[in-house]
Amino acid sequence: MARLISFDMDGTLEIGDPPGRITMAMVRRALELGYIIGSASDKPVPLQKIMWERNGIEVSFAIHKQNLDGVRAQFEAETYQHIGDTNIDEHYAVMHGFEYLDVARDFDEPWMLD
Ligand SMILES: [Mg+2]
Repeated sequence: MARLISFDMDGTLEIGDPPGRITMAMVRRALELGYIIGSASDKPVPLQKIMWERNGIEVSFAIHKQNLDGVRAQFEAETYQHIGDTNIDEHYAVMHGFEYLDVARDFDEPWMLD
């Protein structure tokens, strides 16, 4: 069964504002490894979709981070993770049964090895 990872954008992804540590190459690696991926951000959903399209990355979801429970309901996965840079990310991740990865602290995920 697949693993699922949700990306915060601002402060987490290199295409965020401010840019974060997670490169598009890392995101593509996660896809190659078979992860179900998408974004859970404060950005408007249409803008999230445009940012993924511009980078040629096909995501399975793009939502507001308070709606992570919907992602959990929609996709069956072995593990659910959300990576972000603030305690708001951690709050919603934990509330909705996701493992929280801190972009400043967690470096050991297989798709991060670039
Ligand atoms: Mg952020």
